Amino acid sequence: MSLTITCATCSKEFTMSDEEVAYFKKKGYQMRKHCLECSAKRRETLHQIYRGLCATCGCDISLPFNPSEGGKYYCRQHYTKVSNQH
Ligand SMILES: [Zn+2]
Ligand SMILES: [Zn+2]
Repeated sequence: MSLTITCATCSKEFTMSDEEVAYFKKKGYQMRKHCLECSAKRRETLHQIYRGLCATCGCDISLPFNPSEGGKYYCRQHYTKVSNQH
């Protein structure tokens, strides 16, 4: 039985095919809440890369998380140096 769902993000209606519904049920997944377009966008934001500055040399580094204020981050080069100081 195919399912018609209203996307929680853009309110567009989309359908999940019989196979998809069966697959999700089998896996115990929750049915989709977002259309394919919006899930792709959400995936992008989840894997967003944040920009930060190395605390030692000030060069640009990319972080897989939002750098919190006051936190110290290092570029690959300096990160290894810092962790080897023990
Ligand atoms: Zn959508
Ligand atoms: Zn550095």
